[in-house]
Amino acid sequence: MKLANRALNISPSQTLAIDSEAKALLARGVDVISFGAGEPDFDTPDYIKEAAVAAIWAGKTKYTPVAGILPLREAICRKLEFDQGLKYKPEQIVVSAGAKHSLYNAMQVLVQEGDEVILPAPYWVSYLEQIKLAGATPRIINTREENGFKLTPAELEKAINPRTRLLILNSPSNPTGVVYTGDDLKSLHDVILKYDFSILSDEIYECFIYNGLKHVSIASLSPELKGRTVVINGVSKAYSMTGWRIGYAAAETPVAKAMANLQSHSTSNPTSIAQEACVAALNGDKCVLKQMMVEYSRRRNVMLERLAGIPGITCIKPGGSFYAFPNVSAYFGRFYQGKQINCATDLAAVLLEEAHVAVVPGVAFGNDDYFRLSYVCSMEKINEGLDRISDLLGKLK
Ligand SMILES: *Cc1c(COP(=O)(O)O)cnc(C)c1O
Repeated sequence: MKLANRALNISPSQTLAIDSEAKALLARGVDVISFGAGEPDFDTPDYIKEAAVAAIWAGKTKYTPVAGILPLREAICRKLEFDQGLKYKPEQIVVSAGAKHSLYNAMQVLVQEGDEVILPAPYWVSYLEQIKLAGATPRIINTREENGFKLTPAELEKAINPRTRLLILNSPSNPTGVVYTGDDLKSLHDVILKYDFSILSDEIYECFIYNGLKHVSIASLSPELKGRTVVINGVSKAYSMTGWRIGYAAAETPVAKAMANLQSHSTSNPTSIAQEACVAALNGDKCVLKQMMVEYSRRRNVMLERLAGIPGITCIKPGGSFYAFPNVSAYFGRFYQGKQINCATDLAAVLLEEAHVAVVPGVAFGNDDYFRLSYVCSMEKINEGLDRISDLLGKLK
């Protein structure tokens, strides 16, 4: 059977591939330590589960409005106003089957063939595929480790041309953990306002922020910018709800309407029960989140300390998300049992086979000098895994 070009051009998600390989080894009884996961290890808090059970018994098991139930869109409006000072009306909110789906919908309604989308690298791999699926062309900017992987105003301005339709920003970032401060965003804002393109701001890691940093949404900088930004967020990461599949977008009414129309012909509403659970999540006590963040912060410190202790590795101290993104290129050219290591992909393969540690090579994020380690596992695993990595690197000749 013949496949459409669209399908032929999709690359499978490499982050998920490593994770499933690690899971397969685990299932065979191999003692694998996985730093490959892209989801929290905590269980969904009980009060959220209870709301879902109650929703089932209350018969909330039918179609809902395509863009989500009103109480949920209202809760999202309150959240955006309380946390970011962003005022939206419920009709400007579209709830979808995860933030990934929200991003997909946004990309589909904002860009098309002939358009360019500016994508700072290292990037989350799905952005690249979604740009291509919309028929647009990615314009990748390689941000630099010396700048903490932050896109600079000069780098941005150089990439802008008459075909530029969209800029993707992800702060805190997956995979680098970079957090753009209000000042960083202000300097980008001044460049952006000179031109005419939209911004897709993925803020899914908003709660995962350390060292007293504060999450700032680029949409909050000025009314002009808010009018040109689609804010993406969701409950997957913050509330450990990855399997429930709820994300959302906030945008100007015509954009929100277009996204809802698109969704009305693909998935329709996201799951009714999960939506009810999300109302409970967003209206609930933030204490649960704070407790989880204390634990993430402890793990982050241990992981960064351990990485700093490995010769040859450099690693920026990311302000957010739950990933570390060390540069391992100092080991390229060396050998393990006659096999030469030339990129992070080679190194990740040896680590998984020989040391039984799963990491995600940076090729998945547009730079194979690095690999991504997530610290969504116990402290014991973090220490054991870093021992193994350190031992293996020491054996390279
Ligand atoms: C996890 C993740 C998402 C998507 O989360 P959903 O589970 O689809 O809500 C979006 N963006 C980034 C950068 C992520 O890491």
